[in-house]
Amino acid sequence: MWLVCSQRCGGTLFRPLDVEVDVDAAGAYQGHRVVQPGYLCLNCGSPAVDLGAVPDAMQDDEEGEQSAVTSVDILCPICETLVSVLPGEECPNCGAALELV
Ligand SMILES: [Zn+2]
Ligand SMILES: [Zn+2]
Repeated sequence: MWLVCSQRCGGTLFRPLDVEVDVDAAGAYQGHRVVQPGYLCLNCGSPAVDLGAVPDAMQDDEEGEQSAVTSVDILCPICETLVSVLPGEECPNCGAALELV
């Protein structure tokens, strides 16, 4: 985890938000769970972001996009070249519009 103030005010103290603490009948701490990950900069009161979690999130996005859009190998009917194109793209060899079925 690497918390940074979203306003980059230089604050180094942060307070977790939305953490539910479980206590027993006597009020003794039993545990806690984070309802929504979030931290507040104690210096200026702005939300803080966890830079440590960003690489993971970005990697998830990339994987999601790759699985959503996949290139297709198709034989161009115009120049008769086997090309690999994304849906909606033209033939990179001759520029003809390719209809992917
Ligand atoms: Zn701040
Ligand atoms: Zn072509």
